[in-house]
Amino acid sequence: MKIELKEISQRAPGDPGDFIKVETEKCVGCGKCAIVCIVNLWRVHAGIASIIDEYKEKCLECGACYSVCEAGAINFSYPAGGTGVVYLNG
Ligand code: SF4
Ligand code: SF4
Repeated sequence: MKIELKEISQRAPGDPGDFIKVETEKCVGCGKCAIVCIVNLWRVHAGIASIIDEYKEKCLECGACYSVCEAGAINFSYPAGGTGVVYLNG
């Protein structure tokens, strides 16, 4: 089950920059990133993973995709202070 985004988070003002990048040459197409991302931001086509263009607006910054990628194809860093996700109702 995937979570309804608008109920749990919003993005703080300011551009966080690209905080997730995929090194496609390392990706083996296992799909673990897509399975673990609870907000469904990953796609795997032709054996290569990609994250959706609007991921900055929706990512929960949990780092799960980075953690499960055994191929080391995902680079993840937390956005600069003040530009990250804000959790609601928590
Ligand atoms: S977990 Fe890593 S290797 Fe597997 S599909 Fe995602 S990016 Fe590619
Ligand atoms: S950090 Fe978490 S929410 Fe963001 S893309 Fe990765 S698994 Fe999904």
